[in-house]
Amino acid sequence: DALPIYDHLTSLPNRAHLYDRLRRELEAHRASGDVFALHFLDLDRFKYINDGLGHPFGNRLLQEVGLRLQGAIRNGDMVARLGGDEFAIIQVTAGSPADAAQFANRINQLLLDPFIIDGRKVVTSASIGVTLYPKDGQSVEELLQNADLAMYRVKAGGRSGFAFFTGEMLSQAHEAIRLQSALPHALKAGEFVLHYQPQIDLRSGMVVGAEALIRWQTQHDGLVLPAGFLPAAVETGLIQDIDQWVLHEACRQAKTWLDTLNDPVRVSVNLSPLRSSTSSIFDMVIRELDKTGLPPTLLGIELTEEVLLQRTHSAVGDLEDLHARGVQISVDDFGTGYSSLARLTSLHVDELKIERSFVAGLKDPNNVAIIRAVVSLGRALNIAVLAEGIETAYQIEQVRLAGCDLVQGYYTGYPMEARQFEAFLRAGTAVDLTKPGDPAFRQQQHHKQLAHRRPVEAGALAAMPQW
Ligand code: C2E
Ligand code: MG
Ligand code: MG
Repeated sequence: DALPIYDHLTSLPNRAHLYDRLRRELEAHRASGDVFALHFLDLDRFKYINDGLGHPFGNRLLQEVGLRLQGAIRNGDMVARLGGDEFAIIQVTAGSPADAAQFANRINQLLLDPFIIDGRKVVTSASIGVTLYPKDGQSVEELLQNADLAMYRVKAGGRSGFAFFTGEMLSQAHEAIRLQSALPHALKAGEFVLHYQPQIDLRSGMVVGAEALIRWQTQHDGLVLPAGFLPAAVETGLIQDIDQWVLHEACRQAKTWLDTLNDPVRVSVNLSPLRSSTSSIFDMVIRELDKTGLPPTLLGIELTEEVLLQRTHSAVGDLEDLHARGVQISVDDFGTGYSSLARLTSLHVDELKIERSFVAGLKDPNNVAIIRAVVSLGRALNIAVLAEGIETAYQIEQVRLAGCDLVQGYYTGYPMEARQFEAFLRAGTAVDLTKPGDPAFRQQQHHKQLAHRRPVEAGALAAMPQW
């Protein structure tokens, strides 16, 4: 036959070729009743390499990966390139799940070895999903789709490795699809709500701000957290409308609090990575500030390191303008990305939020060292440092000792509905967070679940949030 053809770049069999071969293997194995394995492989962070080092370099890497894979298979097996950084391997020589696992593991190890391309060393890894015939699929499409699902599970779990497909993955995928299909209506139906989590100044013990966190109040699935729908919203582009809604709602709420409470609270919103150049952040923020009449100093925006690095010059100018007007600019999840320190100094950032994994891992001296380093950076650049994810008294004492200025976490208050947050503010924090040895401070550990519903104690009103 004229078709089955080869991929131009790697000279490996292409997608059509793979399908054809799979179809024939299915027939042969249906007759014999033997097992075979399909490995679906996707390189990790290939986009970074491709964008960062150029497409010709990316192409060379794909060729080298193809060569390594080709060299790893046994007679009768087949490697194909499906397109982009996706490859598939039909392992007909796999007689058992153990064989398939061993092989996937070997491929993972093989690709972890650095590649030298044009004299340049580059490191990559692969996420592999594995399906077994006949258990995981009766058709070519089913086997490939399920292997793809398993591959995604590896990506979601931190990449580099392999996973066998399981039926549970399929039901979860269906669940996700059902949720996603309801997502476009959620905005119109008014199903999004913002919860507010207090941010506390360690020196004064006062609530100085709140982070607005979006939740989706669904008809059938209860309250869905951002991880359950934001990725889909980013994929479909709906995130732009969601961001705008969040910004509006947060400004409106902050203005209400300004008008009704003794002491105003600054509300911070998270802005997502994807933003079309047509509607700049600056325009959007200024528009919402104007609409709601909120003073810029009562609004904060949180951006991740990645976003800051990706931002174009005009967007950096936007941030500078917002900062100049008094909007607080925070770098979220600081310490996990690839911030260049030089970039930080030129970005007019007001606050660094230390990612909560560093706080969770405080028993490890390395994490303490990182927190201390961020604090000295903050001091040098006159940027406030907030520690996220504080869950225990021990953690709050440690980050205070390390020199952090602010804290946010379940220990000092869960994200809560606006009304609840208001009650929390009226009650004050009720505990003097500025004195580590305070018995009330230790007591709070036992009641941390109820931290924000603590009865008002003597002196609580003195601890009302202030500016
Ligand atoms: P983030 O901006 O880093 O928000 C902090 C997350 O940590 C929140 O999760 C919060 O509930 C959680 N958290 C706070 N204190 C603790 C603690 O002591 N322990 C633990 N384990 N977790 C704590 P949430 O609400 O699920 O939000 C997850 C992420 O979703 C946020 O991470 C943010 O990146 C994104 N996000 C949330 N709301 C919005 C939004 O309105 N717009 C956009 N674009 N992204 C949002
Ligand atoms: Mg945030
Ligand atoms: Mg964060």
